[in-house]
Amino acid sequence: MSDKALHPRTRAVHHGIRRSQYGEMAEALFMTQGFAYDNSEQAEARFIKTGPDEFIYARYGNPTSRMFEDRIANLEGTEDAFATASGMAAVNGALMCFAKPGDHIVSSRALFGSCLYVLDVLARFGVEISYVDGTDLDQWQAAIRPDTKAVFFESVSNPTLEIVDIAGVAKLAHAVGALVIVDNVFATPVYSRAVEQGADVVVYSSTKHIDGAGRCLGGVICGTREFVREVAEPYLKHTGAAISPFNAWIMLNGLTTLDLRVRAQSDTALTLATALQDQPGVSRVIYPGLASHAQHDLAMRQMGAGGTMVAVDLGSKEAAFAAMDRMRIFLISNNLGDAKSIVTHPSTTTHSRLAEEVRLGLGITPGLLRLSIGLEHADDLIADIRQAMAG
Ligand SMILES: *Cc1c(COP(=O)(O)O)cnc(C)c1O
Repeated sequence: MSDKALHPRTRAVHHGIRRSQYGEMAEALFMTQGFAYDNSEQAEARFIKTGPDEFIYARYGNPTSRMFEDRIANLEGTEDAFATASGMAAVNGALMCFAKPGDHIVSSRALFGSCLYVLDVLARFGVEISYVDGTDLDQWQAAIRPDTKAVFFESVSNPTLEIVDIAGVAKLAHAVGALVIVDNVFATPVYSRAVEQGADVVVYSSTKHIDGAGRCLGGVICGTREFVREVAEPYLKHTGAAISPFNAWIMLNGLTTLDLRVRAQSDTALTLATALQDQPGVSRVIYPGLASHAQHDLAMRQMGAGGTMVAVDLGSKEAAFAAMDRMRIFLISNNLGDAKSIVTHPSTTTHSRLAEEVRLGLGITPGLLRLSIGLEHADDLIADIRQAMAG
């Protein structure tokens, strides 16, 4: 089933299953933290080296978690993966596992607030961080130095959906031997060609599209076997970043339908974004799948689709709040990638802690709404926004 000739949708259904002696059809949920050994010699041997189907403790690995890791690594095109308790445990782990005082990391400025927090922690321990406008390759070039250890960015920024050119940044980073770490949540594994474009490490919050129904927290670090098992795993397993086997089981099942869901959500997002372009009261529609997006060509080259997120500007906080409060299908929340469509007002919630000038510099205006498009019918979602704006 690992045959790369199979389509991702097929591999997402079958790859990585480990069947027990019962031959169960569905992926089993191994709700166990420990493993019993046949004898003391076996216990001793396992602490020296574990084989592919040998486990010690769920903080180190678990058969259900391993199924999820194998499947997502296969879909992402990496040799291996390590599943974590949340997306932030993955971001933290991917950076902390190798960084040491004096290291230099270049990062895009437009990051999820908690990602910025992790970089601040690294700075506290003597890692030098240079921030750039991720969309500007000249700034990356100017900031990357011969001693740069890694570059980090969200390939599609939250909430203004700016695209970072993975291939362009990777070329500059690899010229000095720096590791390319990409937070790829908004691209989703369905539209990710990050490894092909030069990413070394791809990080997901599986809380989002991979779960797909807003139930569990989870994350994953995908990379070479050497990076995942020799560099990341020691840090992750000793600091307690492991995913719960139950959550891994949810994520594993999420992967089965990911391709169908994300393609449907992305198609709906395009239909909705197109319709909102002529909607009175909408001053700006940001969607990478629209020709009007400043980086439309790059988005198509890099992802092949616009994704499941749309941002619209209604001109003022008052107009944005009034419309949100009248929406009947879109729920006011701050998750994304859910089957249920979600509306978020970034400037007063997810990005409220940024200074106003920083927020405006990132394009997060008072009238901006972030829409996470779910699995409802496009016509119903468009009608919901129209009735909400009509008042
Ligand atoms: C949600 C998110 C995270 C954090 O993931 P959690 O699962 O909430 O910890 C990190 N990066 C991006 C881009 C996200 O959207």
